[in-house]
Amino acid sequence: MGEWSDWYAREDPSTWVLAEVLKRRAAEHPDREYLKFADSPWVSYGEINARSNRVANALIARGVQPGESVSVMLPNCEEFIPVWFGILKAGAVMSSINTAYKGDFLSWTINLVEARKLVISDEFLDRLDLIKGELPALEQGQKLDLDGAPWMVDKETQPPSRISQGKLIEMMEELGLGTKATRPDIIQKLYSRGYVFNNPPEPSETGIAMYKAFRDHVLRMATPEMTAELERDMDEIAAGEISKDEVIKISRDMLHQTYDDLFERREDLAKTIWAGMDEDKFIGVCEVCEEKGRTVHEDGSPNRLRIIDLKGGKRFWGCEGYNRDDPDDPESCGNSGPLPGRGYELWRLEPRCSVCGVRPRLTVRGFRGRPWKLCLNDDCPTMVEMRQKREERRKAKEEAEKRKAAKGEEGGGAAAAKSAKPKPKKSGGARKKPPTTTTRTKRATRGKSTARSRS
Ligand SMILES: [Zn+2]
Ligand SMILES: [Zn+2]
Repeated sequence: MGEWSDWYAREDPSTWVLAEVLKRRAAEHPDREYLKFADSPWVSYGEINARSNRVANALIARGVQPGESVSVMLPNCEEFIPVWFGILKAGAVMSSINTAYKGDFLSWTINLVEARKLVISDEFLDRLDLIKGELPALEQGQKLDLDGAPWMVDKETQPPSRISQGKLIEMMEELGLGTKATRPDIIQKLYSRGYVFNNPPEPSETGIAMYKAFRDHVLRMATPEMTAELERDMDEIAAGEISKDEVIKISRDMLHQTYDDLFERREDLAKTIWAGMDEDKFIGVCEVCEEKGRTVHEDGSPNRLRIIDLKGGKRFWGCEGYNRDDPDDPESCGNSGPLPGRGYELWRLEPRCSVCGVRPRLTVRGFRGRPWKLCLNDDCPTMVEMRQKREERRKAKEEAEKRKAAKGEEGGGAAAAKSAKPKPKKSGGARKKPPTTTTRTKRATRGKSTARSRS
């Protein structure tokens, strides 16, 4: 039960849309088994999501509109699931037809929802031939093959799907990197140092620069061999095959040499990495400069907005076209706004918000809690909605506290009538510990101690 309530607290109900859930799960666990039909092999989340995308793209390319009904006449089969999700992803509604229907029943069901598209299995095609003339809305002569070439290449699967954390751990194992205990830790470090973000992990510009810097300047450190070699030696010590002193000597030589390389190339290395870190700060195009046609970059693109760190952990976003020495310069751009402080992690989500289309959108992650999406346009519908929800939550909390306080006074009175002493302790404790599990454990221990004292 505890887990379920946690789940509800964590999840955002607005994302409880089937196609969205599938997409998210596929991103989280692309390789996890999702569907097994009869004797066919298991199909993964990632595969079902990819097939659904192809169906959706094919439908959209053939003019299916959001809200439109798409009729489906398929036997029980594996394809049914991707077809269903594909229709949902295209924003349409599936109208499933009983496979026993023929003649008037069949035409009536198709005409009822004014279906223009029908996904039908070959085995039922002859039934369709019989009622051909009675389907005014249905568009003929288009074929949607469920496997093979006509499936459209899916936008979402390009770039290729990311490697999940589980898969990454497997790969590290294959390469001899880390131990069973340290592998998850290593991945966590990639996150905390800002080399990767999101889940499945995506490399940040800093992470990419870090790799490039080592690849170009201290190649040995960019390959898994060195670490793997050290790990192997550790195993050999453990097995008593090699002495500790020997390994220490080998490792010391190895590290000395690498360190010398590193020291010699440190400036080049730093430049590359700084450039990457800098790149991570650019979050999208400045809409003001774009409108004014300030195309300042070689490729003809306008000024960009970037994250700016201030002393003391404060941050804001601003246009790179701001002229610090002469802010009144007509070419200086003052487009800027506040950002959460350095206690929060910020990641580029969209260079231009897909909802309002005005400014970049970021993912914000605090010390605890779920990450949330921040549009830099305050008037963006997503931000308006978020403020409303926050306000509602704040009000609900306030009222709950008021009720609690009122109850506490009543309860306190009753408790005081029974005994004056335990009252303040009790109410104080109740206010301090919101998680129910604590209460449960306490009760359990109390029960135990009572039992013990009784015996
Ligand atoms: Zn600007
Ligand atoms: Zn927006």
